[in-house]
Amino acid sequence: MTTVSEGPRSVEDAVSGLDIRAQAFIDGGYVDAASGETFDCVSPIGGEVLAKVAAGDKEDVDRAVAGARAAFESGVWSRLAPKKRKQALQRLASLMAEHAEELALLETVDMGKPIRDATNVDVPLAIECIGWYGEAIDKVYDEIAPTGPEAHVSIVREPLGVVGAVVPWNFPLMMASWKIGPALATGNSVVLKPAEQSPLTALRLAELASEAGIPDGVLQVVPGFGETAGQALGRHPDVDMIAFTGSTEVGKLFLRYSGESNMKRVALECGGKSPHIVTKECGDLDAAAMAVAWGVFYNQGEVCNAGSRLLVHEAVKDELLEKVVAVAGRIQPGDPLDPKTRMGAIVDETQLGRVLGYIESGKREGAGLHLGGARVREETGGYYVEPTIFDAVSNEMTIAREEIFGPVLSALTFSELDEAIAVANDTIYGLSAGIWTDDVNVAHKAARAIKAGIVWVNTFDAGDISSPFGGFKQSGFGRDKSIHALDKFTDLKAIWIALRD
Ligand code: NAP
Ligand code: MG
Repeated sequence: MTTVSEGPRSVEDAVSGLDIRAQAFIDGGYVDAASGETFDCVSPIGGEVLAKVAAGDKEDVDRAVAGARAAFESGVWSRLAPKKRKQALQRLASLMAEHAEELALLETVDMGKPIRDATNVDVPLAIECIGWYGEAIDKVYDEIAPTGPEAHVSIVREPLGVVGAVVPWNFPLMMASWKIGPALATGNSVVLKPAEQSPLTALRLAELASEAGIPDGVLQVVPGFGETAGQALGRHPDVDMIAFTGSTEVGKLFLRYSGESNMKRVALECGGKSPHIVTKECGDLDAAAMAVAWGVFYNQGEVCNAGSRLLVHEAVKDELLEKVVAVAGRIQPGDPLDPKTRMGAIVDETQLGRVLGYIESGKREGAGLHLGGARVREETGGYYVEPTIFDAVSNEMTIAREEIFGPVLSALTFSELDEAIAVANDTIYGLSAGIWTDDVNVAHKAARAIKAGIVWVNTFDAGDISSPFGGFKQSGFGRDKSIHALDKFTDLKAIWIALRD
């Protein structure tokens, strides 16, 4: 296999040495969909068909859930000593590291992100996540309630059983790892449904997990469409919990599926329309401009916490926007397989159409197109959009209200901080927010006043596996990452033992 450092090459060349896994992974082996149906896995780099992937449906989900249940009830994983689960997850992390280059390549050809990001961000963070939850799990203690001498009451956390993980296409391996790490560490079995646009790394991961000694049935991967495989998982009477990342619209469907089936627990990481506030007390406009640009253009803007609404004080607006435009000039779309490329392809033609549609709506509703706005590199057969900035946006415009999931920034101005905070909160979402200020008073007050799961001060999109991630309001509930993620994959049980004199 060639290496990333060798430079750009065609998609065909890049994948020629790879054994692309395209079947479902159930009970320790790859299998076709029961129906025999497949769907084309298309690379957004140039529209190449990478593989014909098994189109899992209800029958496949039933089979995967039955195997996951059998594995769970057997205790082969669920009752294993935490130390042993730790060792298996650490082996999985090591195997992922051994195959890091292959995983990065699969991610890039499958969903179009730059190879430099897949290599330096997605894959290392996924590895860290799996290893971190493995490492954590034999250091978590249960509790004894302070009831007094008549009883001994242990409060223990138990795995839920079968967890259905349904993930999106923007960070396929990383999102899968955020679910699988804590779900497996706590002893559950997992049935993972990757997004139809990007199933390849999840399918390879299953095999690595098996090689790492995670028993058959404990990690099943069923590729397929949301309306078929995803819905079957959401409605399955024997799935105990759904861990979902994706759109708010589909998140709501999972709540309905749960209510109409077995009241399975649901944890939702959904969309966002994150405000990024730059005050006149910002002491470093260059750093702010860098964060504003990368905060919305990173990963082609296909980031749930993208800072897609810039709220900038009118006194610094012109200077800041000029700097943002300068940074954006260095983030032009290019060949995702070229290690120098900083912005890749939009995931598919449908998403390309959505993004271009929002750009049209911005123009129609009277926003000022300040930068970009066009599809580029069309001759490649792939889907690329320039970094785009709208000025003179009002918070009522569609581009300020709806999640675009593309490289489109809406700039709004304010004169008083209270007004900025009101606009920041005037959204159905509450995933994240950023504020730039050198005034410690403003920093604290704004951080408390903004309704979001994470508020960054003088930075944006910073993260660490130890820091929880997830939203307020219609950005969902439940947290990924950090020790708190363990909670949602477990239930509390009180064991009350009466003590005789
Ligand atoms: P999506 O359409 O909601 O899809 C997410 C997952 O749900 C996919 O696996 C999809 O399957 C499945 N799905 C779609 N329709 C379904 C249905 N009717 N029933 C059951 N499952 C269904 O989201 P996306 O377009 O992949 O990703 C973009 C969205 O994810 C954005 O809104 C973004 O903000 C959000 N996101 C949030 C976070 C976070 O942590 N908060 C992180 C990343 C992304 P198919 O793709 O196979 O149809
Ligand atoms: Mg794809």
